[in-house]
Amino acid sequence: MILIDGKKAAAELRAELKEEVTELKSKHNKVPGLTVILIGDLTPSQIYVRNKEKSANEVGLKSEVIKYPDSVEEKTVLEKIQELNSDETVSGILVQLPLPKHIDKQKVIETIDPSKDVDGFHPMNVGNLSSGYESSIPCTPLGCYLLIKKIEPNLSGKKAVIVGRSNLNGKPMTQLLLKENCTVTITHSKTKDLKAECLEADIIVAAVGIPELVRGDWVKKDAIVIDVGINKTDNGIVGDVHFDEVSKNAKALTPVPGGVGPMTIACLLKNTIDCFKRSQI
Ligand code: NAP
Repeated sequence: MILIDGKKAAAELRAELKEEVTELKSKHNKVPGLTVILIGDLTPSQIYVRNKEKSANEVGLKSEVIKYPDSVEEKTVLEKIQELNSDETVSGILVQLPLPKHIDKQKVIETIDPSKDVDGFHPMNVGNLSSGYESSIPCTPLGCYLLIKKIEPNLSGKKAVIVGRSNLNGKPMTQLLLKENCTVTITHSKTKDLKAECLEADIIVAAVGIPELVRGDWVKKDAIVIDVGINKTDNGIVGDVHFDEVSKNAKALTPVPGGVGPMTIACLLKNTIDCFKRSQI
């Protein structure tokens, strides 16, 4: 079984991006800039943002974090986004989720200029992705896609089963694999026989949020299994896939932690650079 090393793949991607930033700097005499807005003092969000800033600096991006207290008015945040939209030194804008209840998440997402939407959540980018046009792609599914392509460069005709249909993970993952000519089944909490669906799959992507949902006898021999889940349990962090059982059958499997997670941040940097490149055309 191939243990898909997300840390290594992310380090390789960051090294490529660092080179790209150096080239862009010599060509345009400026570097891509990422601005993250962090609202409130949720510890996980603070850790995510710190890691994003550290990685952005590592590849040579200009990075900035704008912090607001939990009590910030929605209007203040929307005005700041508009200011960043017209700031030429800002290539990508990310508002760290979740937001306090009094701030409308959809309004925030739709205020970000789609050409600076490094999370790929703006409806314009969602539409472009599903129409097969160039767009920012949500970072986690993009990371999963790159990991799958490392194992199997030609995905044409493969049967993929996506477990979970969130806008963040399942739906964009479906679009990415459709574009590669996979036959894609998207499953969810109302799917009648999830095990039977998974048993058909050459590729399984599990993005559910239920610890170890996907069991060893759900997985066809030689399937590629990507585990997006991050679940805190009494035994530590586990994924949505039962690692020990599935590793006996699968051709390749991502561990949790150390699989999809590290690729998510690397893909945020990639999206920032791609937004910059599109803005220079
Ligand atoms: P989400 O928005 O809660 O969506 C979960 C999806 O799973 C929903 O579509 C839901 O179906 C489906 N589901 C729930 N129970 C199911 C069941 N028994 N069988 C089949 N499908 C079921 O979750 P998310 O934001 O996509 O996140 C999923 C997991 O990924 C979480 O553990 C999260 O922490 C993790 N995550 C990891 C990263 C990373 O970088 N590695 C990034 C983001 C998220 P319905 O639509 O029918 O409700």
